[in-house]
Amino acid sequence: MVEEQLRERGIHDERVLDAMRRVPRHRFVPAEHQRTAYGDRPLPIGWGQTISQPYIVAFMTEALQIAPDDVVLEIGTGSGYQAAVLGELTREVYSIELVPELAERARHTLDALGYRHVRTRTGDGYAGWPEHAPYSKIIVTAAPEAVPPALVEQLAIGGTMILPVGPDGGHQELRILTKTAEGVTTERSLPVRFVPMVKPAG
Ligand code: SAH
Repeated sequence: MVEEQLRERGIHDERVLDAMRRVPRHRFVPAEHQRTAYGDRPLPIGWGQTISQPYIVAFMTEALQIAPDDVVLEIGTGSGYQAAVLGELTREVYSIELVPELAERARHTLDALGYRHVRTRTGDGYAGWPEHAPYSKIIVTAAPEAVPPALVEQLAIGGTMILPVGPDGGHQELRILTKTAEGVTTERSLPVRFVPMVKPAG
């Protein structure tokens, strides 16, 4: 997976490639998909959700240039796979998942593999996780139609956020936001297809 799908397609950061070599992706997918866990495609994880394809995980992780002292927030824990990759690169990771059953299963997997420094909770990612803000890096793994303001607020000055933006099933693109004292700059990157970031009722 690492050599053929990631390095060949342009992922060069050795720390990211090492992290992805260390995280056992098959442990994050349902039993019936474990045989194909290392193919370069997304896989269903239940509740209509998917674990992203390895290339996109690698691309987004590389774009964040994570250092060991970064405090990272992830929106959309899903299976917990992306959170584990982040947990290989830094000591402090916080991840929020809307669907309680997914959050619970991800917690179980992360504990079984020793990722106790990856903290998770069930909740709405649109509100972020203010208690541990500011975050030097934020990664969103479901697509909102616009950048959620609370996440920009919780991003540290000098921090970077990567997220897909666009309508459900329509044209989405990855955006890389950098926050400075003067404001936020945005770089537009790959076209992508993510599940929607759901706005809970009420
Ligand atoms: N990063 C995951 C894949 C995420 S799929 C992995 O590595 O497996 C997107 C996830 O975002 C889904 O689990 C979905 O339930 C969750 N999600 C959707 N809307 C959300 C919201 N408003 N807040 C938090 N999580 C949300």
